[in-house]
Amino acid sequence: MKLVLLGKPGSGKGSEAELLAKTLKVPQISMGDILRSIEREKTEIGRMVSAYIDKGELVPDELAMTIFKERISKPDCKKGLLLDGFPRYLEQANELDKLMKIDKAIYLDVPDDLIIKRLSNRRSCSNCGAVYNLITNPPKKEGVCDKCGKDLYIRNDDKPETIKNRLKIYNEQTKPVVNFYSNKGILIKIDGSKSIDEVHKNVLKALGKSA
Ligand code: AMP
Repeated sequence: MKLVLLGKPGSGKGSEAELLAKTLKVPQISMGDILRSIEREKTEIGRMVSAYIDKGELVPDELAMTIFKERISKPDCKKGLLLDGFPRYLEQANELDKLMKIDKAIYLDVPDDLIIKRLSNRRSCSNCGAVYNLITNPPKKEGVCDKCGKDLYIRNDDKPETIKNRLKIYNEQTKPVVNFYSNKGILIKIDGSKSIDEVHKNVLKALGKSA
């Protein structure tokens, strides 16, 4: 099965993608995670990627496409995949259309006020990328990752001024992608304001799958 997961930053895409990829036994391709790992390499490209991510802007299409194509060419993507954070704009959706047939696009719908609350309480692991929320999913020990024991940090793009910019960019550039899949008749809209477990149950139900 080839799936796309769409939603505003902070809509719970990453959490749902992790659960769904495990249930469906397909790789989770998270462009944000791939780009953040490139950023950590501190190379010329890493510094360039960092400049965009830190401002909450999208990485230029040519670079994002090159990275994406390289990842999906790996053998684990042959049978199916779950795309998290891709496509982010219409050009990417059109390019993706030429590369493969997407079965369903799942859109996690969350109002802006809840997005702002979620992102300002988000903490990420500097080492393994695990994500926590201080209110709904706090780490057992403050500031420390449950999974690998390394420090948690606030992503630069989760700071208040950047959150607003990311929402603006989402509305201008990514919202048309939701309409793109809706027009194709393959969009599934899910209420993303519910708990992680409920969202997962509802996504599986909509896909006609069991946990
Ligand atoms: P995310 O973790 O999905 O919120 O992504 C974090 C950041 O990575 C975004 O704000 C963008 O700067 C960049 N990014 C993620 N996916 C894409 C994409 N498909 N195209 C361009 N930039 C992306």
